[in-house]
Amino acid sequence: MAEIYVADRLISAGEELPPGHDAVRVAHGRIEAIGRGSELVEADPGASVSRFAGYSIMPGLINSHVHLGGDCSKSSFATLCSGAPDEVLALIRTNARSCLRAGCTTVRDLGDSGGYVARFRDSTTAPDSVRPRVLSAGVPLTITGGHCWYLGGVADTAAEIRSAIDGAVEDVDLIKIMAGGGYVTSEGPTPFDAQYSTELLRVAVEHAAQYGLQVAAHAHGSEPIVRCIETGVSTIEHCGWRSGPGKRDQNEEAVRQMAQQGTAAGDTTPAVWRDIAKYVTTPDYKYGSQLTWMAERDVEILIGTDSGVPGTEFDQLKLSMELYEELGFTRGKVIDMATRGAARSLGLSHETGELCAGLVLQRRFG
Ligand SMILES: [Zn+2]
Repeated sequence: MAEIYVADRLISAGEELPPGHDAVRVAHGRIEAIGRGSELVEADPGASVSRFAGYSIMPGLINSHVHLGGDCSKSSFATLCSGAPDEVLALIRTNARSCLRAGCTTVRDLGDSGGYVARFRDSTTAPDSVRPRVLSAGVPLTITGGHCWYLGGVADTAAEIRSAIDGAVEDVDLIKIMAGGGYVTSEGPTPFDAQYSTELLRVAVEHAAQYGLQVAAHAHGSEPIVRCIETGVSTIEHCGWRSGPGKRDQNEEAVRQMAQQGTAAGDTTPAVWRDIAKYVTTPDYKYGSQLTWMAERDVEILIGTDSGVPGTEFDQLKLSMELYEELGFTRGKVIDMATRGAARSLGLSHETGELCAGLVLQRRFG
């Protein structure tokens, strides 16, 4: 039996659909038709009809950067790395539900350990069948002593990188590589430093491509960011163009190449960005200005929250989206980025990102 959902308005590609388009007909988990509620109901009197007066229907939001196995505390991956399997899966379930309640119907997990997120993604039984769509990168590749080494993805050489990818392909939807240092690993390379040479990043990109897998690369610093662009990774996470404490670069040539080859910037603005902005804004620097700079040069920006790491939550994508409004993006543009744009960059346009016939409206998996 088909289902018809009627609301006050429909929003797709960041725009309100023409007046009178207020309903969606769904059958077998896919959108069949978009149109006037009265006409859809008349044409299919046997359909179940749900009305949402005062509400809009839009594609689910996509949070492009989360860690479902993190608990947002100072030792955010302690349970993931040493908890009992049931405890870890319960944590992942709670976090995924939190995303879903906040309107995210797709999340991209960019690093767990032990294959837990993939196991959760593949679960088809209650209570895990009600959850967002999950893309899992599995364990991130990193160097000995490097960013998040404790998750278990150390690969220092070309042979080790290939072997790690070979071993992961059965479980992952993409590959994550720590191209530069980070903030949550106290020793090892700083966030400004590169961890891998351009040659080794290329090995990862080419080897992943043999399996049809994208590569998401973690890079705060300009040096690792430029190396990532040279090797053609799909997304550069954080992508802060940092060259040292309080210093940010604007490498016009590299950003032009980024836009041309379709490498997206994976932004991870925390929900508390207003507090951070107060401390870091100077006469020469406005918080988030590198995002405006990249967007003006046609780089696709993915909005994510890095939820799971210290000081984050899973239901706050909306707060991160508000930064873009502050930076001057229209609301429609921000919604489009977190729906259609993200679906395109993550290779999900055939499933989600817009309200149109053929795309998925899935209420449960399995
Ligand atoms: Zn992350």
